[in-house]
Amino acid sequence: MTTKAFGIKISTKGDKDIIDLTPKVAESVAQSEIRDGMALVFVPGSTAAITTIEYEPGLLQDLPEFLEKTIPAGKSYHHDQTWGDGNGYAHLRSALIGASFTCPLIAGRLILGTWQQIVLLEFDNRVRHREIVVQVIGD
Ligand code: ZN
Repeated sequence: MTTKAFGIKISTKGDKDIIDLTPKVAESVAQSEIRDGMALVFVPGSTAAITTIEYEPGLLQDLPEFLEKTIPAGKSYHHDQTWGDGNGYAHLRSALIGASFTCPLIAGRLILGTWQQIVLLEFDNRVRHREIVVQVIGD
């Protein structure tokens, strides 16, 4: 078995930023020269998430609206009372969606639907510099 890890540096604008990572993940997979296995995409940090979505303007509004209804940013959370950083909602959204996504890799291709992109969701209430980890495992 071979494992290769890559870092993708991303600066986000803070809450509601959704960034399509698919081309960079595909680049990492190509560089790994691993053809069969899987690619794990992970964001270190507890105020962001990785998931998949169709990266189109409607859903880029629908997803933040859904999260705002489910876990409102304006509400006071216990975390905010403890730390005073006002981003309790961001931690909860991150925990709900999760910090990673694993994509099958077959014959050198990431197996994704035609309209399925791998995205970074930023929830924090300030600009953040993230380093996404792509770990390619296989062959
Ligand atoms: Zn916090």
